[in-house]
Amino acid sequence: MNKPVYKTDDEIELIRQSSLLVGKTLAELAKLIKPGVTTLALDKVAYEFINDHQGYPGFLGYNDFPNSICASVNSAVVHGLPTNIPLKEGDIVSCDIGVVKDGYWGDSAYTFAVGEVSNEIKQLMKVTKESLYLAIEQAVAGKRIGDISFAVQNHAESHNYGVVRELVGHGVGKSLHEAPEVPNFGRRGSGLQLQAGLVIAIEPMINLGTRNVRQLKDGWTIQTADGKPSAHYEHTIVVRKDKAEILSSFEWIEQALGLN
Ligand code: MG
Ligand code: MG
Repeated sequence: MNKPVYKTDDEIELIRQSSLLVGKTLAELAKLIKPGVTTLALDKVAYEFINDHQGYPGFLGYNDFPNSICASVNSAVVHGLPTNIPLKEGDIVSCDIGVVKDGYWGDSAYTFAVGEVSNEIKQLMKVTKESLYLAIEQAVAGKRIGDISFAVQNHAESHNYGVVRELVGHGVGKSLHEAPEVPNFGRRGSGLQLQAGLVIAIEPMINLGTRNVRQLKDGWTIQTADGKPSAHYEHTIVVRKDKAEILSSFEWIEQALGLN
Protein backbone atom coordinates (compact mmCIF):
# COMPACT_ATOMS: atom_id res chain seq x y z
CA MET A 1 0.00 0.00 0.00
CA ASN A 2 1.00 3.61 -0.47
CA LYS A 3 1.78 6.06 2.28
CA PRO A 4 -1.05 7.39 4.44
CA VAL A 5 -2.66 10.62 3.28
CA TYR A 6 -3.37 12.95 6.20
CA LYS A 7 -6.57 14.87 5.65
CA THR A 8 -7.30 18.60 5.91
CA ASP A 9 -10.25 19.78 8.01
CA ASP A 10 -12.22 20.44 4.81
CA GLU A 11 -11.60 16.89 3.62
CA ILE A 12 -12.56 15.48 7.02
CA GLU A 13 -15.89 17.35 6.80
CA LEU A 14 -16.58 15.76 3.41
CA ILE A 15 -15.72 12.29 4.74
CA ARG A 16 -18.03 13.00 7.68
CA GLN A 17 -20.92 13.84 5.35
CA SER A 18 -20.42 10.60 3.41
CA SER A 19 -20.06 8.59 6.62
CA LEU A 20 -23.19 10.10 8.17
CA LEU A 21 -25.15 9.23 5.04
CA VAL A 22 -23.99 5.62 5.54
CA GLY A 23 -25.31 5.74 9.12
CA LYS A 24 -28.67 7.13 7.99
CA THR A 25 -28.91 4.48 5.29
CA LEU A 26 -28.16 1.69 7.75
CA ALA A 27 -30.93 3.13 9.96
CA GLU A 28 -33.37 2.83 7.05
CA LEU A 29 -32.40 -0.85 6.83
CA ALA A 30 -32.74 -1.23 10.61
CA LYS A 31 -36.40 -0.19 10.31
CA LEU A 32 -37.04 -2.98 7.78
CA ILE A 33 -35.01 -5.92 9.06
CA LYS A 34 -37.34 -8.66 10.29
CA PRO A 35 -38.18 -12.25 9.36
CA GLY A 36 -39.35 -12.53 5.73
CA VAL A 37 -37.39 -9.58 4.36
CA THR A 38 -34.78 -10.33 1.70
CA THR A 39 -31.36 -8.74 1.58
CA LEU A 40 -32.03 -7.80 -2.06
CA ALA A 41 -34.96 -5.70 -0.82
CA LEU A 42 -32.60 -4.01 1.65
CA ASP A 43 -30.13 -3.41 -1.16
CA LYS A 44 -32.78 -1.65 -3.23
CA VAL A 45 -33.81 0.58 -0.32
CA ALA A 46 -30.16 1.52 0.30
CA TYR A 47 -29.57 2.30 -3.37
CA GLU A 48 -32.56 4.61 -3.52
CA PHE A 49 -31.95 6.29 -0.17
CA ILE A 50 -28.32 7.08 -1.00
CA ASN A 51 -29.23 8.41 -4.44
CA ASP A 52 -32.03 10.53 -2.96
CA HIS A 53 -29.39 12.12 -0.68
CA GLN A 54 -26.98 13.06 -3.45
CA GLY A 55 -24.57 10.22 -2.74
CA TYR A 56 -23.35 7.28 -4.75
CA PRO A 57 -23.44 3.75 -3.26
CA GLY A 58 -19.75 3.21 -3.81
CA PHE A 59 -19.70 -0.57 -3.50
CA LEU A 60 -21.85 -0.83 -6.64
CA GLY A 61 -19.36 -1.62 -9.40
CA TYR A 62 -16.36 -1.57 -7.05
CA ASN A 63 -14.18 -4.37 -8.43
CA ASP A 64 -17.42 -5.32 -10.25
CA PHE A 65 -19.37 -5.85 -7.03
CA PRO A 66 -22.98 -6.13 -8.26
CA ASN A 67 -24.87 -4.41 -5.41
CA SER A 68 -25.02 -1.33 -3.18
CA ILE A 69 -24.64 -3.14 0.15
CA CYS A 70 -22.77 -6.13 1.44
CA ALA A 71 -25.24 -8.29 3.37
CA SER A 72 -23.56 -11.14 5.24
CA VAL A 73 -25.95 -13.55 6.95
CA ASN A 74 -24.98 -15.76 9.93
CA SER A 75 -21.75 -17.59 9.00
CA ALA A 76 -20.97 -15.03 6.29
CA VAL A 77 -18.35 -12.66 7.71
CA VAL A 78 -18.22 -9.90 5.09
CA HIS A 79 -18.73 -9.22 1.37
CA GLY A 80 -21.99 -11.17 1.27
CA LEU A 81 -24.08 -10.70 -1.86
CA PRO A 82 -27.71 -9.63 -1.39
CA THR A 83 -30.07 -12.48 -2.27
CA ASN A 84 -33.74 -13.36 -2.64
CA ILE A 85 -33.60 -15.63 0.40
CA PRO A 86 -35.87 -14.28 3.16
CA LEU A 87 -34.24 -13.59 6.52
CA LYS A 88 -35.45 -15.91 9.30
CA GLU A 89 -36.12 -15.39 13.00
CA GLY A 90 -32.83 -15.88 14.85
CA ASP A 91 -30.57 -14.92 11.92
CA ILE A 92 -28.07 -12.11 12.08
CA VAL A 93 -27.17 -9.96 9.09
CA SER A 94 -24.11 -7.74 8.85
CA CYS A 95 -24.76 -4.82 6.52
CA ASP A 96 -21.77 -2.90 5.20
CA ILE A 97 -22.21 0.24 3.11
CA GLY A 98 -19.88 2.67 1.38
CA VAL A 99 -21.00 6.08 0.17
CA VAL A 100 -19.14 8.45 -2.12
CA LYS A 101 -20.24 12.06 -1.99
CA ASP A 102 -18.31 15.09 -3.29
CA GLY A 103 -15.41 12.79 -4.09
CA TYR A 104 -14.92 11.32 -0.61
CA TRP A 105 -15.86 7.95 0.86
CA GLY A 106 -17.58 6.99 4.08
CA ASP A 107 -17.59 3.36 5.22
CA SER A 108 -19.55 1.80 8.08
CA ALA A 109 -21.14 -1.51 9.01
CA TYR A 110 -23.53 -2.91 11.62
CA THR A 111 -24.72 -6.39 12.54
CA PHE A 112 -28.49 -6.68 13.01
CA ALA A 113 -30.48 -9.35 14.80
CA VAL A 114 -33.47 -10.69 12.87
CA GLY A 115 -36.23 -11.01 15.45
CA GLU A 116 -35.04 -12.70 18.63
CA VAL A 117 -31.55 -14.25 18.52
CA SER A 118 -29.89 -16.63 20.96
CA ASN A 119 -28.03 -15.29 23.99
CA GLU A 120 -24.83 -16.72 22.55
CA ILE A 121 -25.22 -14.59 19.43
CA LYS A 122 -26.30 -11.52 21.41
CA GLN A 123 -23.07 -11.81 23.37
CA LEU A 124 -21.02 -12.14 20.16
CA MET A 125 -22.63 -8.96 18.81
CA LYS A 126 -22.09 -7.09 22.08
CA VAL A 127 -18.43 -8.05 22.41
CA THR A 128 -17.72 -7.27 18.75
CA LYS A 129 -19.19 -3.79 19.12
CA GLU A 130 -17.30 -3.28 22.38
CA SER A 131 -14.06 -4.26 20.64
CA LEU A 132 -14.72 -1.56 18.03
CA TYR A 133 -15.10 1.15 20.68
CA LEU A 134 -12.08 -0.08 22.65
CA ALA A 135 -10.08 0.16 19.43
CA ILE A 136 -11.35 3.68 18.74
CA GLU A 137 -10.10 4.73 22.21
CA GLN A 138 -6.60 3.84 21.03
CA ALA A 139 -6.81 5.95 17.86
CA VAL A 140 -5.06 9.04 19.21
CA ALA A 141 -1.95 10.80 17.98
CA GLY A 142 1.24 9.19 19.26
CA LYS A 143 -0.23 5.69 19.56
CA ARG A 144 0.39 3.07 16.89
CA ILE A 145 -1.73 0.92 14.60
CA GLY A 146 -0.76 -2.07 16.75
CA ASP A 147 -2.47 -0.46 19.76
CA ILE A 148 -5.75 -0.42 17.83
CA SER A 149 -5.22 -3.98 16.60
CA PHE A 150 -4.34 -5.29 20.05
CA ALA A 151 -7.43 -3.69 21.61
CA VAL A 152 -9.71 -5.64 19.27
CA GLN A 153 -7.85 -8.92 19.55
CA ASN A 154 -7.44 -8.78 23.31
CA HIS A 155 -11.12 -8.10 23.97
CA ALA A 156 -12.45 -10.66 21.47
CA GLU A 157 -10.04 -13.41 22.46
CA SER A 158 -10.76 -12.86 26.15
CA HIS A 159 -14.24 -14.17 25.23
CA ASN A 160 -12.72 -17.07 23.26
CA TYR A 161 -13.90 -15.70 19.94
CA GLY A 162 -12.03 -16.04 16.65
CA VAL A 163 -10.54 -12.84 15.24
CA VAL A 164 -10.53 -12.81 11.44
CA ARG A 165 -7.06 -12.00 10.08
CA GLU A 166 -7.51 -12.13 6.33
CA LEU A 167 -9.50 -8.88 6.16
CA VAL A 168 -8.55 -5.62 7.80
CA GLY A 169 -9.56 -2.01 8.35
CA HIS A 170 -8.01 0.68 6.19
CA GLY A 171 -7.45 4.34 5.48
CA VAL A 172 -10.44 6.16 3.95
CA GLY A 173 -10.51 9.23 1.72
CA LYS A 174 -10.73 9.76 -2.01
CA SER A 175 -10.36 5.98 -2.21
CA LEU A 176 -12.20 3.32 -0.23
CA HIS A 177 -9.02 1.50 0.69
CA GLU A 178 -6.05 3.71 1.49
CA ALA A 179 -2.98 3.14 3.63
CA PRO A 180 -2.55 2.11 6.33
CA GLU A 181 -4.01 -1.35 6.84
CA VAL A 182 -5.68 -1.65 10.25
CA PRO A 183 -5.61 -5.32 11.31
CA ASN A 184 -7.80 -6.63 14.11
CA PHE A 185 -4.87 -8.49 15.66
CA GLY A 186 -1.42 -7.30 16.58
CA ARG A 187 1.08 -6.19 19.16
CA ARG A 188 0.86 -3.07 21.28
CA GLY A 189 3.35 -0.40 20.29
CA SER A 190 3.94 -1.84 16.80
CA GLY A 191 3.23 -0.43 13.36
CA LEU A 192 2.68 3.06 12.01
CA GLN A 193 2.60 5.84 14.57
CA LEU A 194 -0.72 7.67 14.40
CA GLN A 195 -0.87 11.36 13.53
CA ALA A 196 -3.80 13.75 13.75
CA GLY A 197 -5.72 13.88 10.49
CA LEU A 198 -5.39 10.20 9.67
CA VAL A 199 -8.82 8.88 8.68
CA ILE A 200 -9.30 5.15 9.04
CA ALA A 201 -12.08 2.58 9.05
CA ILE A 202 -11.83 0.28 12.06
CA GLU A 203 -13.82 -2.90 11.52
CA PRO A 204 -13.57 -5.90 13.80
CA MET A 205 -14.85 -9.15 12.24
CA ILE A 206 -15.32 -11.56 15.09
CA ASN A 207 -16.34 -15.22 14.86
CA LEU A 208 -18.16 -17.28 17.46
CA GLY A 209 -15.88 -20.23 16.64
CA THR A 210 -12.66 -20.56 14.66
CA ARG A 211 -10.96 -17.47 13.25
CA ASN A 212 -10.47 -19.30 9.94
CA VAL A 213 -12.49 -18.21 6.92
CA ARG A 214 -12.95 -19.26 3.32
CA GLN A 215 -14.31 -17.59 0.21
CA LEU A 216 -17.45 -18.94 -1.41
CA LYS A 217 -17.62 -19.85 -5.07
CA ASP A 218 -19.65 -16.69 -5.73
CA GLY A 219 -16.26 -14.95 -5.70
CA TRP A 220 -17.28 -12.56 -2.92
CA THR A 221 -18.71 -13.98 0.29
CA ILE A 222 -16.21 -14.61 3.06
CA GLN A 223 -17.56 -17.29 5.39
CA THR A 224 -16.41 -18.85 8.64
CA ALA A 225 -14.65 -22.18 8.05
CA ASP A 226 -16.72 -23.90 10.75
CA GLY A 227 -20.07 -22.42 9.71
CA LYS A 228 -20.58 -20.64 13.03
CA PRO A 229 -21.86 -17.03 13.07
CA SER A 230 -19.74 -13.92 12.72
CA ALA A 231 -20.33 -10.26 13.59
CA HIS A 232 -18.95 -7.07 12.02
CA TYR A 233 -19.14 -3.45 13.16
CA GLU A 234 -17.30 -0.61 11.46
CA HIS A 235 -16.82 3.10 11.99
CA THR A 236 -14.89 5.63 9.94
CA ILE A 237 -12.94 7.77 12.40
CA VAL A 238 -10.31 10.50 12.41
CA VAL A 239 -7.26 10.40 14.65
CA ARG A 240 -7.05 13.51 16.82
CA LYS A 241 -4.63 14.71 19.46
CA ASP A 242 -6.55 13.66 22.60
CA LYS A 243 -9.51 11.57 21.46
CA ALA A 244 -10.52 10.02 18.17
CA GLU A 245 -13.54 11.52 16.49
CA ILE A 246 -16.08 9.11 15.02
CA LEU A 247 -17.21 10.39 11.62
CA SER A 248 -19.86 7.75 10.96
CA SER A 249 -22.71 7.20 13.43
CA PHE A 250 -24.78 4.39 14.90
CA GLU A 251 -27.11 6.92 16.54
CA TRP A 252 -29.93 6.70 13.98
CA ILE A 253 -29.55 2.93 13.72
CA GLU A 254 -29.85 2.45 17.45
CA GLN A 255 -32.78 4.86 17.60
CA ALA A 256 -34.53 2.75 14.97
CA LEU A 257 -33.73 -0.38 16.98
CA GLY A 258 -35.00 1.21 20.19
CA LEU A 259 -31.59 0.88 21.84
CA ASN A 260 -31.23 4.53 22.83
MG1 MG B 1 -17.24 -1.34 5.21
MG1 MG C 1 -14.12 -0.93 5.47
